[in-house]
Formats: sequence, C-alpha cells, structure tokens
Amino acid sequence: GGTIGVLGGGQLGRMLALAGRNIGYRFVTLDPTEDAPCGQVADEQIQASYDDVDAARRLAAVSDVITYEFENVDAHVTDILMKESYVPQGSKLLYTTQHRLREKKAIEAAGVPVAPYAEITSAEQLREAVERFGTPCVLKTATGGYDGKGQWVIRSLDEVNEAYETLSRAKTELVLEQFIHFDKELSVIAARSPRGEVKAFPAAENIHVHNILHLSIVPARISAEIQKEAEKLAMRIADSLGVIGLIAVELFLTKDGQLYVNELAPRPHNSGHYTMEACRTSQFEQHVRAICNLPLGSTELMSPVVMVNLLGEHVDPLLEQIDQPGFLEDEELGVSAKVHLYGKKEAKEKRKMGHINVLASDVEQALAWIERKGIWESK
Ligand code: ATP
Ligand code: MG
Ligand code: MG
Repeated sequence: GGTIGVLGGGQLGRMLALAGRNIGYRFVTLDPTEDAPCGQVADEQIQASYDDVDAARRLAAVSDVITYEFENVDAHVTDILMKESYVPQGSKLLYTTQHRLREKKAIEAAGVPVAPYAEITSAEQLREAVERFGTPCVLKTATGGYDGKGQWVIRSLDEVNEAYETLSRAKTELVLEQFIHFDKELSVIAARSPRGEVKAFPAAENIHVHNILHLSIVPARISAEIQKEAEKLAMRIADSLGVIGLIAVELFLTKDGQLYVNELAPRPHNSGHYTMEACRTSQFEQHVRAICNLPLGSTELMSPVVMVNLLGEHVDPLLEQIDQPGFLEDEELGVSAKVHLYGKKEAKEKRKMGHINVLASDVEQALAWIERKGIWESK
C-alpha cells in the first residue's frame, strides 16, 4: 500500500487510480480543472495549475510515489517533486521524450531504426532537406504536438516557406521526417521495473482518423515474426532508456517488413486500453506494479479484441443504442463489448469521452460488430 501522487487528472490518471486502488494504493491527483476525470475517483484532488510550486510541494508531502499522465511536465516542478518525494521514473525519461530530436537520438542509440530525419533551423535548410528526402515529407515541431497538431505534410517545394513560417510560430525546434509509406501503424507498450524486469504487451494495430486514434486491433494482422520483432524493439528501448514504468512505442511497418519507431510516450497510452479486458494484467496495473517495484503481471492476451475510441460526437448515438438488446453482447457474432466512460461532462467534438473494448473469437468479428453499430460513420 501507500499513496501514489499523479500529475494530471485526465482519463489516463483515472484508469490508473482505478487499477491501483484494486491493489491497495491511495491516489492523490494534481490538476487545474474542477471535477477532473482522475479527481472523481482519487482519494483527493489538489486543484492547481501544473506549474504551481506550492501545489507541487503539497502533492510531494502526501505522496510516497509520484507519477505523471502526460509528458510535458515542467522541469522545475519535476525537480521539486524529486527532492521532496520519490519519482521512480526520474526526470531524464521526461526530458528525452519531451523533444522529438532527443527522443529520436535515444531510439537510435538503442539500435532501433527511426525514419530519416533532419533538424531544421531555417527555411533555406528546410528546402535543401525536402529536396534530399523527396516529397511528401513531414515537418513537425520538436515539442508540444499531439493528435497531429504541430505538423505539416509537405507535398511540394512550393509549400516550404509557408510550412516553415507556420510551424516556426510555435517557438520550438523543428524536425523534418521522411514520409514512411507504411502498410500498418503499430504500437507496443512495455513496462520495466527498478529491479530490471521488462515485459511487453502484445503489439496493437492502430487505425487513426483525422490523426486521432480510432481503433486498436489485437492481435495485429501481421506475421508472428513481426509481432515478436516489434515487441523486442520496445523492450530494447525500455532497457536502453532505463525506463521505469510504461513506455509506449509507436511504430510504422512497411510492406517489405521494415519497422521504424515513430515516437514514444512514457506513460499509459490510448492504444493500450485494450489490455483492460483482453490481457491478464492491464497497462494501468502494470504501470503501478512497475513504479512500485512489484513483480510485473502477465501480459498474456486472453482474447482477440478491438478497442474503439468514443469521441464527443459518438456519445449520443451510443447512448441511444446502449439499452437495446444486443449492444453489449452479440451472440450471433460471439461478441461481447465493454463500455468505459471517463466521467467528462461536456461531449465536445473530438474529445475523448470513453472507449469500448470489443472481445470476440477473432478480430474480424469484432470489426464487423463495430461497423454494424454505425455510430462511427459520421467521420
Ligand atoms: P499523438 O497523438 O500520437 O501523440 P502526434 O501529434 O505526436 O500524435 P505523430 O504520432 O508523430 O503525431 O504523427 C501523427 C500521425 O501522422 C501518425 O500516427 C502517422 O499516421 C502520421 N505520420 C507521422 N509521421 C509520419 C511519417 N514520418 N511518415 C508517415 N506518416 C507519418
Ligand atoms: Mg505524440
Ligand atoms: Mg503519435
């Protein structure tokens, strides 16, 4: 037992707290918003902004262990938390994964391939790099991007100046990446504990719509060799970076079987929500086990599964169907679906409101069920 402090009060913190309470931990969260998803289920919420030093001190004072549910934690706050409490994940992992260039260098140092990239510091240099990589290629801000924000797919040399000017406004370094014509996008979540134990969850096949995760399909529809290879790469990254807790590894798989890492997240990941019903241990419990130096749980997959995200625009159509017979179980398809909601009040468009884990005898059945529901078609 003990108290775990969570920086950030969103759905990742909420599911972390729900899982951690089941194995005897108390939770305190720090988040600026009233009635945050994690705050609703934690023992206590400190409502303050993330750079509020006094609030960070209060969190440190009541927590035996501190973790975070997003990667843009202020370095100054991390310092305080490390001095005044225990942050097993350390500050180096955050420092690395907060910045695409540092992250790519760390992945390469682990001996794992990334797409060819270049640091960009001027429009002239961008033009030169675009000529070298060929179009399309992707310009990204080094920090702060999510859901495809802070990115520009450059399709011709004519776009160079506008792309540079637009992304430069973010006042951060820029990175140009070669466009990978991937066959599939995958992710693997690995956990590592202070005693050096490392375990990976099965690779997920991810489908994005408008740069937001829509589906995670597990087992991924790839060969067993590539599955193993992806899981091996994630574990190698976890070891090489000295990860404590979870590391989510996003990958591109090309037609000829080449894997490239796209980016990392040092925390539970949306593409790992499928583990909640489908694996013997969920990613959230695994994170708690890892940061608390408990033996890691089994990552065995118990059933094929498709996780489908519920965004704001999906919630009303879902609630209209939820009482109808057959929503949660479809005996004909052999499907059973479990709905998770995050307790967010306002169903804004694109906002992540919940997810559904659809378990079936194979992923095609689960996908057929999702398609039949028809509530995801508006996009
Ligand atoms: P997230 O919400 O996952 O944090 P993000 O804003 O950090 O997203 P990325 O994951 O880097 O952005 O990119 C978003 C999506 O854009 C990827 O999932 C992929 O579909 C596409 N993409 C990014 N980089 C490349 C690339 N080099 N080649 C091809 N597609 C890419
Ligand atoms: Mg990202
Ligand atoms: Mg991503």
